[in-house]
Amino acid sequence: MPIQLNTLSQSSLQDYNDCPRRFELRYLEQLAYPAIETEPALENERHQKEGEYFHRLAQQYFVGIPAEQIAKLANTENLQRWWTNFSNAGNLTGLKDLSGLKTEITLSAPLGKFRLVAKYDLIGFDHEKIYIYDWKTYRKRPKNEWLAIRWQTRVYRALLVQAGAHLNSGKAVQSEQIEMVYWFPDFPNDPARFAYKTDQFKRDWDALTKLADEIASASSFPKTDEVSKCSYCPYRSYCNRGVRAGDALEAELETEAEELFDINFEQIGEIEF
Ligand code: SF4
Repeated sequence: MPIQLNTLSQSSLQDYNDCPRRFELRYLEQLAYPAIETEPALENERHQKEGEYFHRLAQQYFVGIPAEQIAKLANTENLQRWWTNFSNAGNLTGLKDLSGLKTEITLSAPLGKFRLVAKYDLIGFDHEKIYIYDWKTYRKRPKNEWLAIRWQTRVYRALLVQAGAHLNSGKAVQSEQIEMVYWFPDFPNDPARFAYKTDQFKRDWDALTKLADEIASASSFPKTDEVSKCSYCPYRSYCNRGVRAGDALEAELETEAEELFDINFEQIGEIEF
């Protein structure tokens, strides 16, 4: 590999899954996206930045800053609408005791030659149940079937089982305790919920281990055969797969990447095993 890669995330795994070449360009060669010139792409970028800002607002709410104070920071049309929907949804979690909520938690665990890392928007503990909340500012509500097979849905639940004991009073987290909830600020009454089971965890962790081994020993990162994936890929111009952007809403769903580079690795909670 041209650059030593130490960590894997849901985002890098998803890229590898969708197109090994995109994984190589983004995570090994760390190529910035080519200049964005078309109006839909600029609009997408603006929307993405607002989405990131919304995450900051939600985080401030869950660390105890009053909603009215945060509302003043929602200074664009999208942010105002999202914040109104967020406020109208109560505290979203339905949990009476907000002291059981942990926001912006990063977990990691060894995975083959890598560390698997995930940053959670919010984790809620309520007696025996543990809820993973994730905010998605998508303009189009994705189908549950699509979300269910995303690496994010698999990684976040599996990593909480694998590395979440220190958040659970030192007790191992059982798969059956977990539910993952995607909440969409533009579709506030239609969250997507995913429970978890031990056999799913085993399948997920086996699949993750296999994928990590495959990446560690890969000698080439071929372009995807599914040319349809290229139509919204920001790296199209590197691959001679066309320069015109595809559907902006599809692009938003398919190419989101979390900013892992700003994670403070001192803060990562982990277990040694
Ligand atoms: S343009 Fe297509 S082949 Fe190139 S990185 Fe993107 S998805 Fe892969």
